[in-house]
Amino acid sequence: MQKIIIFNSLILILIFLIFYFYSKKNSDNDFTYPFSKEEYYIEDNLERYLKYYEQNQKKSFSDIVREINCNLDYQFYNGVERSNPLDKILILVNKHYTLDKDFEGFDLVKVDDKYAYYDKEYYMNQEAYEKFVKMWQDANLAGCDFGIYSAYRSYERQVFLYNNYVTVDGAEKADTYSARAGSSEHQTGLAIDLKSRTKKTDYFETTEEYDWLLKNSYKYGFILRYKEDKEYLTGYQFEPWHYRYCGVDCATYIYENDITYEEYYEYFIKNK
Ligand SMILES: [Zn+2]
Repeated sequence: MQKIIIFNSLILILIFLIFYFYSKKNSDNDFTYPFSKEEYYIEDNLERYLKYYEQNQKKSFSDIVREINCNLDYQFYNGVERSNPLDKILILVNKHYTLDKDFEGFDLVKVDDKYAYYDKEYYMNQEAYEKFVKMWQDANLAGCDFGIYSAYRSYERQVFLYNNYVTVDGAEKADTYSARAGSSEHQTGLAIDLKSRTKKTDYFETTEEYDWLLKNSYKYGFILRYKEDKEYLTGYQFEPWHYRYCGVDCATYIYENDITYEEYYEYFIKNK
């Protein structure tokens, strides 16, 4: 009789221990499932989602996935990786992915003076340029006129520009609007800055050219790269003048889904 009681007690203790460890294991992984159901969930980032969630429990799962996919668990210019030139027109260059100082853009061609805002020479990627010309012609038919005032910029040029801005505004302010050398998209030849020629203004967002580009640029493969409500993700203030070529498929997806290029790259290119 006594043996049976001891045996039963041991069985009960065993059941309790199994239950205890099983439920503990499950509670540690409670959030794996909801994260895995997120649209832009990347399995390799799971540990980082969970850790970030611990520190930011008021954020939604969607926001956590978005912010980790944009590497916001690293400070800008910390934990930097090299941009991958093999990505070609889909290369990501930002405050987490930077270019080597020797990188001199892809397939650069000279921009015809007709499209230049100032009397200067501009160079850009050939494919991007061909699409730009088509976009410009269609915009022109719609009554718009804009010119390029910055296109490809070398690493050395970016060193010069950034240092000038730091002298004027200090590094903290300069970092909100100017890229440090190696982290400017202009070094790829895929980015252009535009000015209106129908309305002389520094506020491109007040022009009809801006309105037209906002609605149509994706059809030619260009995206508005630094949007007003995405500053915390891109690390740049709103730049209504800065357009980036990434091809029609990519630009259309970004336009239709209102995501940043950072999010697109991490989900569709890096972790495809
Ligand atoms: Zn720009």
